Amino acid sequence: MNLHEYQGKEILNSFGVRIQRGIVATTADEAVAAAKKLTEETGTGWHVIKAQVHAGGRGKGGGVKLAKNLDEVKEIAGQIIGMDLVTPQTSAEGKRVHQVLVAEDVYYPGESETSEFYVSVLLNRATGRNMIMYSTEGGMDIETVAEETPHLIFTEEIDPATGLLPFQARKIAFNLGLSGKAFKEMTKFIAALYTAYVQSDSSLFEINPVLKTSDDLIMAVDAKVTIDDNALYRRKQYAEMRDLREENAIEVEANALGLNYVDLDGNVGCMVNGAGLAMATMDLIKMSGGEPANFLDVGGTADAKRVEEAFRIILKDPNVKAILINIFGGIVRCDRVAQGVVDAYKNMGDAINVPIIVRLQGTNADIAKKLIDNSGLDVQSAVAFKEAADKVKAVLS
Ligand code: GDP
Ligand code: MN
Repeated sequence: MNLHEYQGKEILNSFGVRIQRGIVATTADEAVAAAKKLTEETGTGWHVIKAQVHAGGRGKGGGVKLAKNLDEVKEIAGQIIGMDLVTPQTSAEGKRVHQVLVAEDVYYPGESETSEFYVSVLLNRATGRNMIMYSTEGGMDIETVAEETPHLIFTEEIDPATGLLPFQARKIAFNLGLSGKAFKEMTKFIAALYTAYVQSDSSLFEINPVLKTSDDLIMAVDAKVTIDDNALYRRKQYAEMRDLREENAIEVEANALGLNYVDLDGNVGCMVNGAGLAMATMDLIKMSGGEPANFLDVGGTADAKRVEEAFRIILKDPNVKAILINIFGGIVRCDRVAQGVVDAYKNMGDAINVPIIVRLQGTNADIAKKLIDNSGLDVQSAVAFKEAADKVKAVLS
């Protein structure tokens, strides 16, 4: 589950990680009130107004702007709230901004120069260990750094038995070229960040930039936090942070029904039981010249009600031109699924306006095929995987 920047920063702050402070606002007037409050609390004269959407690169898209007085706070917040923010990470339509974070300006001039770093904590799946990835090239898009100057990205793996060791935090601060107070600050920052990552059951922390201020404080200016979905049951306070407006509407609805659904760009809807078979089915569709419109694992109980729910979800996608149902009857008998398809079809009437190809294999597959073939409905049955693919190809062309 992804969080907004302001939520990620709240979590960091609760574990003692220094952050650029801010207050979230949903209207221009709230933004002005937030700015006044921040000035009282921090003494800041300038404020940054930051669009809160689940996408990076907001700065480049005009979603992060500096305001030098309260009039500018009001004007900029008014512009950003309600806009469809387009960044390198969004679609061409962009993402609607519902709220902004009004934050203290932390790039103030002082004794030393400010500098920006990149720090992330994530799981290295190859070794099964958490690692800290970091770079002197902060503020830039890390994919570009990885492509153009890979030697400027460092990693530090953490042994789960010992956790992060003090020498590792010092090594990171050293490799980032810090000394004196900033060095000490960075070691504290890294240690607190790692503790926050582990204790919040996160699967990704990406802090870009981590800022060294002109008075040598180290703080998180941005925060991309992903909480492991499997841990949400025991992290209720984070589960409550979910913002469904940021997620794909069809996926949200499907997940509420207990369907494992992922929206894709293609034209062939898939209804499959089992994640592995669903993946194989998507390959099959591609091989037959189509493009899968979705990944959908209906799970173990493919009865009429379930099949109907799945139909309705698949048909919400206007790109769907055909539906391929590929069910393996192991515990669930094929004839029950076939009856489910026929019942759902009859129930839904005109709502089903695309051809359907059904492949049922496994227990009672022969009875199931007869049920489909004799139903009198516009449903084609297939026995072999290849046959199903050919039938999909035929209806698409
Ligand atoms: P992103 O573009 O979505 O990654 O958003 P960030 O939170 O990383 O902000 C983008 C950029 O805005 C940063 O890299 C900074 O250069 C700039 N920025 C953020 N906070 C401040 C601030 O307090 N003062 C100034 N002058 N610039 C800031
Ligand atoms: Mn950033």
